[in-house]
Amino acid sequence: MPAPYTGRFAPSPTGPLHAGSLVAALASWLDARRHGGRWLVRIEDVDTPRCIAGADREILRQLAACGLQPDEPPVWQSARGGLYQAALDRLVAAGQAYPCACSRKEIEQALAAQGRPRRRGEEAPYPGTCRQGLRGRAARAWRLRVPDGTVHWTDRRLGPQQQDVAREVGDFVLRRADGLWAYQLAVVVDDADQAITHVVRGEDLADNTARQLVLQRALGLPHPAWLHTPLVRGADGEKLSKQNGAQPLDLADPLRALTDAAGMLGLHARGGSLADALRAWTAEWPFLQSTGD
Ligand code: GLU
Repeated sequence: MPAPYTGRFAPSPTGPLHAGSLVAALASWLDARRHGGRWLVRIEDVDTPRCIAGADREILRQLAACGLQPDEPPVWQSARGGLYQAALDRLVAAGQAYPCACSRKEIEQALAAQGRPRRRGEEAPYPGTCRQGLRGRAARAWRLRVPDGTVHWTDRRLGPQQQDVAREVGDFVLRRADGLWAYQLAVVVDDADQAITHVVRGEDLADNTARQLVLQRALGLPHPAWLHTPLVRGADGEKLSKQNGAQPLDLADPLRALTDAAGMLGLHARGGSLADALRAWTAEWPFLQSTGD
């Protein structure tokens, strides 16, 4: 029997919800409701320098005002370091993670020496310098030993996807040089610990999926189904963010904000109460065929 549907919304508390993040919140809630499943909220506050004090509570208030109530009390990643450490320990014991001494500059120099200079604006793939050991240098970060080969999966909206993580990303960071847990490790450990069967999130996160599949495989964890939702763009054509003019949601009129978010998902404007609209959108929800059902 397949695991019962469990979905989640996993905001980083870097500011209040805006029109863009509400699309992902609404989509994950509707998908859970339509599948008769549970919907959880996880505050992803591991990247502490980017977090803003009080943004977590504000996000929870905004969700509540929009009628999006989690089925269990929210969890905070900052309280879950023990789980991430245990996962890293398992990977290290299995020879699947290793310490890395490289600074960003050294990585760029190594890539240039291999004739693969980093292109502007691109994250540099790790050239594998510390794969065979630190050679007397001090460990800074921990990396996953990524196996060769192309990862294939199907996104419920975007269709068939693939990425050669070893070639395009390389051995990626699990614990950062500043001691903070990397998003990839925290999200994979938490999705498994919370028995998440369906990940629904913004399309800006789609290119993390292959890394997360690789990490799930390394840890022997199940793969959820994936659905990446359309992005709301700012005036500059980039994903809407505080930097390009996103305003916090107007809680005086949550139905209006939700109606805009629903429109991004191809759903129709509805009259009546907030509850009526949420019920109608659940019935209208178009993303039914999924690899995880
Ligand atoms: N915390 C991430 C963000 O707000 C989302 C992570 C996820 O949904 O996998 O961008």
